Amino acid sequence: MRYILNDLEKIKKNLAGKYLFLFLDCDGTLAHIVDTPDKAVISPETKRLLNSLAENKNYKVAIISGRALADIKEKVGLKNIIYSGNHGFQIEGPKVKHEMAVPLNYKNVLRRIKIQLEDKLSGIKGVFVEDKKLSLALHFRLADKRQIPFIKTVFHESVILYLVRNKIKISPGKKILEIMPPVHWNKGKIVLWLLARQEALSKNGKIVPIYIGDDLTDEDAFKVLKNRGLTIFVGSTNSSHAKYYVKDVKGVYVFLKWILNNQGEKQICQN
Ligand SMILES: [Mg+2]
Repeated sequence: MRYILNDLEKIKKNLAGKYLFLFLDCDGTLAHIVDTPDKAVISPETKRLLNSLAENKNYKVAIISGRALADIKEKVGLKNIIYSGNHGFQIEGPKVKHEMAVPLNYKNVLRRIKIQLEDKLSGIKGVFVEDKKLSLALHFRLADKRQIPFIKTVFHESVILYLVRNKIKISPGKKILEIMPPVHWNKGKIVLWLLARQEALSKNGKIVPIYIGDDLTDEDAFKVLKNRGLTIFVGSTNSSHAKYYVKDVKGVYVFLKWILNNQGEKQICQN
């Protein structure tokens, strides 16, 4: 991976005159990772910047998050942005609203797993189950490190029968284990879906997608955009499919500000 802030001159040439579709993860990308998801904050400066990008006709902005749709909409709270919640299973924005179909009994399965997890882990401090309606997240960032093997064992015991029968899918994250619908859908699929939709709406010109994210679920988007746009990992790793990286949330801000200053004045409005 290359450090994107060192490559800006080259990138500037490649982006000149192009319409940009910005796909942004939220936690760890726009907001610092904190102990519990309700404490995450997007700074006022970042919100102002996002708003300027969203209001500018040269860009489209989509927030692609693992949070529930209502949660991510409230967290960001800006208009003219496309919001995708539950890792792409829900979507809502100007002229678009959609929820991916899930198997009939999936929500019953989630309910049963939730009861089991809460029951078996109720005595462990720093663990909680977040019900996101279409997915279930077991958070253990605040748990004692020595308890983590036990927490993971309980999780796997609670899901294994549903997993082998393809009733659910499992997705690991940062101090989190998630249960998702057993459908082949992810952040990569929703990004391609939104890009295709935007291209169909556009009169002319090329759309360049830019994806910024820090989590394992963002890798699906990095993979599908590999030869199509800019992919930027937030943090340090040796195993990302992204072409570029920034070090942290601040780096994301600096890059987005640069994008606004470099492309914002031109008229490359598509629709
Ligand atoms: Mg993230």
